[in-house]
Amino acid sequence: MLAMDYRGPYRIRVDEKPMPRIEHPRDAIVRVTRSCICGSDLHLYHGMVPDTRVGSTFGHEFTGIVEEVGSGVENLNVGDHVIVPFNIACGQCHFCKQGLFGNCHEANPHATAVGGIYGYSHTAGGYNGGQAEYVRVPYADVGPTLIPDWMDVDDAVLLTDVVPTGYQAAEMGGIQKGDTVVVFGAGPVGIMAARCAWLFGAGRVIVIDRFEYRLEFVRDYGPAEVYNYEALDDVVTFIKHATDGLGVDVAIDAVGGDAKGNFLQTLLGNKLKLQAGNAIALHWAINSVKKGGIVSIVGVYGPTGNVVPIGNVVNKGITIRANQAAVPRLLPKMIEHVKEGRINPKALITHRVPLEHIADAYHIFAAKLDGCIKPVLVP
Ligand code: NAD
Ligand code: ZN
Repeated sequence: MLAMDYRGPYRIRVDEKPMPRIEHPRDAIVRVTRSCICGSDLHLYHGMVPDTRVGSTFGHEFTGIVEEVGSGVENLNVGDHVIVPFNIACGQCHFCKQGLFGNCHEANPHATAVGGIYGYSHTAGGYNGGQAEYVRVPYADVGPTLIPDWMDVDDAVLLTDVVPTGYQAAEMGGIQKGDTVVVFGAGPVGIMAARCAWLFGAGRVIVIDRFEYRLEFVRDYGPAEVYNYEALDDVVTFIKHATDGLGVDVAIDAVGGDAKGNFLQTLLGNKLKLQAGNAIALHWAINSVKKGGIVSIVGVYGPTGNVVPIGNVVNKGITIRANQAAVPRLLPKMIEHVKEGRINPKALITHRVPLEHIADAYHIFAAKLDGCIKPVLVP
């Protein structure tokens, strides 16, 4: 079969690889119908995630048709078209039982933090991902969910990650009726967080980024007040002014960062333009939230080099909440929101690319070229 093949930072190609096989009774094999590239994949692409091995296949946002099921999988049939959550989760461990599907202990027993994730390095369990024609789905009796008849597969594929992640960002923010929310990052995750903030009763939603085309999109889609941080002298001062000097009730970090970017930004200050993300958004979040406010982090960070203004966290009495999204917990609710027309996921898709052209898709998405918001691979 054809599959994405990682050759090292910035080096991606498509190769012929062995077909995945059932390795455990709870496995299924799925033929991929749609597969996205995520901002999280860019961290792998940039070489920030430890133990990303040459020869691995990325891809944690995919839908597919069930080709084969192991003897222990009773809820799926061959031919079912399913949404596969990005979390690989056993559904039975201490963490899964609490709904913390992003922190499953069984799927990644060697890690102290993250659970299992498709195509996300050996740090996240060493599973191959769905930027391929076929993929092995472990614990197939837990996550995979039938795509309802009425749902477009382009909507369905965004329910594997971006929609529930944006939703959980807003949920962790504990948004109360009338709250002012600022979202840092107008990528797919930030756009969805802005949209979902309204579902929790926000009174005002502000989005900050530097790409005008993304800000224009979220201005209508959120809707949101949008500001380009490159046009502001000082982001935190600006937000304080815009909120009667108090700061926002909830700040969402939908940017994340990498070790190299964080280090350089600490040295060189706020104006540095790094495409690879940076902890500066987290600084802005902590410093622009009001006293007693909540900072919600869904941006993904590398393990080292993140310098957080922890003194301000203590002195302001801020609550910080963060996690990988627990997709299996949120999926039924997300399907309902799409059905009722409250969320229109596929509006984010700007690029459809055959699997063979995956290297171009990574380049365009990483460099934010050609109006790219969300690229989808069609094997
Ligand atoms: P993306 O690369 O498309 O978007 C990131 C956006 O952040 C870009 O538009 C960029 O210009 C902007 N940005 C960079 N620095 C900024 C700053 N200082 N202030 C404001 N904006 C800034 O990525 P995405 O797909 O939207 O993902 C965003 C983040 O969410 C990534 O870190 C990704 O790894 C993470 N993520 C987390 C989860 C989870 O479950 N927690 C799931 C999916 C993605
Ligand atoms: Zn993702």
